[in-house]
This record gives sequence, structure tokens and C-alpha cells, in this order.
Amino acid sequence: MPKRKKEKIKAKKVDISQKVEPKKQLSISAIQEGTVIDHIPTDATFKVVEILQLQKHHGVVSIATNLESKSMGKKAIIKVGGKSLTESEVSKIAIVAPDATVNIIKNFAVKEKIKVTTPDVVDNVVKCSNPRCITNHEKIATRFYVMKKDPLKIKCHYCERSMGKNDLEII
Ligand SMILES: [Zn+2]
Repeated sequence: MPKRKKEKIKAKKVDISQKVEPKKQLSISAIQEGTVIDHIPTDATFKVVEILQLQKHHGVVSIATNLESKSMGKKAIIKVGGKSLTESEVSKIAIVAPDATVNIIKNFAVKEKIKVTTPDVVDNVVKCSNPRCITNHEKIATRFYVMKKDPLKIKCHYCERSMGKNDLEII
């Protein structure tokens, strides 16, 4: 019995080594075409998912969080197959992930690496946390001014409510 088991394991090993292409497996560019967002703070992982509406995306989406990072301690990476980000999506990501890098993947390789930059004005991305704010009662796009980038501090154009990253509710 033990002998048989050993044989089985051996056969399996050979099989795997034939199939695996180490380069593709280890590289960040394991998707053929699309976008890899790296250096996301772990607590912003699902905010980025929300911003990009990945729950509706039909291509491959892989989300890895609590990964070890030299610069951040822990970080998250999101890979999205078959999607390139718009400028507005990139600046939305910058609000919740100011150190994120956006890698554009073509044919399994990183074609371009973009370091996000937090915009000075944030239009129609974040909900105002003040229940009395006019933006919560009328159909007006929200507008916030970025007072501080990291940690984030924004101020509502309409009611002057200040909000930090923990108050952010993405529209
Ligand atoms: Zn407001």
C-alpha cells in the first residue's frame, strides 16, 4: 500500500512540471491583456473593487490582499483581465490608494507603469457624510477639495464638512 502511494505522488509531480511555465506563474503579468493595480493599502482593497465596479466585470479579476510588502508592510494587488482604466478611474483610485501603481499589461508583459496622483478636486466620487448636505437631498454631483493627500483629508464644496479616509463612501 505505501509503495503504491509513493508512485502516485511521483507521477503527479512529473505531470505538473511539464505543464507549469514558471515565468508566467511568478510574474505580476499573469494576465494576457489588462491592468494590474499594485501597492493598494489592504483597507482600501474593496474600495478599489467598488470604484472599478469589478463586481460587474466579465473578464478575469483576481484580488490578493494582506501580501507582504517591503514599503507598506501589507498590501493588496488587483489584477483585471481585459480592462484598461480611464483617467477618471485612475484618479478615483488615488483617493483611496495614494501609493498605488497601475500596470498596463499587453501580451503578458508590463507595457506601462503609472504612479497614481491624488487630484486636487474630487468630483462625484465620494458621498458627503453630512446628512444635511445639499448633495444628499438634491441631484447635485458632490465636489470635494483635497486638503491633505496622505492621510487623506477632503472638504465638501457645499457644506465644508471635512472627511478622512475612514469616512469615504464611494458613489
Ligand atoms: Zn457636504
